[in-house]
Amino acid sequence: MERIGFVGLGTMGASMAANLARAGAPLTVWNRTPGHAAALLGLGAQEAETPARLAARSDVVVVCVSDTADVAAVLFGPGGVAEGAPTGSLVIDCSTIAPQATREFGCRLAERGVAMVDAPVSGGSEGARLGSLTIFVGGSDSDVARARPVLEAIGRTITHMGPLGNGQAAKAVNQVIISGAYLGVAEGIVLGIRAGLEPHRLVEALSGGAAQSWILANRGGRMIDDEYPLGFKLALHRKDLGIALEMAAEIGVMLPVAMLVAALEDRLLAAGHGEEDMSVLARAIRELAAPEPGADTTGETAPE
Ligand code: NAP
Repeated sequence: MERIGFVGLGTMGASMAANLARAGAPLTVWNRTPGHAAALLGLGAQEAETPARLAARSDVVVVCVSDTADVAAVLFGPGGVAEGAPTGSLVIDCSTIAPQATREFGCRLAERGVAMVDAPVSGGSEGARLGSLTIFVGGSDSDVARARPVLEAIGRTITHMGPLGNGQAAKAVNQVIISGAYLGVAEGIVLGIRAGLEPHRLVEALSGGAAQSWILANRGGRMIDDEYPLGFKLALHRKDLGIALEMAAEIGVMLPVAMLVAALEDRLLAAGHGEEDMSVLARAIRELAAPEPGADTTGETAPE
């Protein structure tokens, strides 16, 4: 495999980089906040001081950071990838960001003789850990062919969706679909609990029928427990819905469920739940329910 540089060792990036190291890629890593590379150094990776230095010693740079502005910062900011990337190198952006900005970044890199592929991923932290991500890829045929061995080390279902930016457009569709799926599972579980059904038995029963889904199987338990460890941060999904809703507005498509989920997520963000897993949508549904009979609604502690 070519020499790989990996920028962004968060929930997703750290696991993806580890899978690249295990696949035998010569690997250099960088993360904005220090202290995230220890496990990767143990797998033989090296750590660079800046994205520019990382790029200077890589043939392919993989980026996995939060949002559009963050990709811009690591590519074109001071000490960014563009400063160090040699002519003929390739950037693979696995972050979920706006399709139009992706095309602009691609043009800016092309001016420096650097190619770009967008390759946003789906499959959660579990998929990143297991190397089983679904990857939506945009770029020229030759750039995507070059990226493929890297993507095959981190993902299982890799689909070339068309030119640069189309990977992000496909990911926006994915995020719209999961909006409805998370909300549906959250509503069903809260309804089941309040109807007096044993929720684990309910999830098991539902999993054999048409209501089965990845979200029911992997996030139903969190919704039952009303605890939401990561996972996929709610704030990141709200960011993705912003991208999808903007894309829909440009095309002239109405997305009522995505708009409803965005409003519920805004409410949760305002209440401080942005860093919790997206399944915290079930908390919003719980809060919309009438108080349980006998529940203390005064907020006062009962006298001892
Ligand atoms: P995360 O755990 O919050 O990690 C974000 C990473 O981006 C961290 O390494 C962070 O560095 C870095 N970063 C953010 N802003 C930066 C900036 N301005 N400059 C440099 N580095 C910056 O997020 P994640 O869950 O790994 O998600 C990463 C991307 O994958 C996002 O676009 C997300 O939408 C997408 N994604 C996530 C999931 C999931 O289930 N988690 C699934 C599919 C796709 P610091 O450590 O310094 O903060």
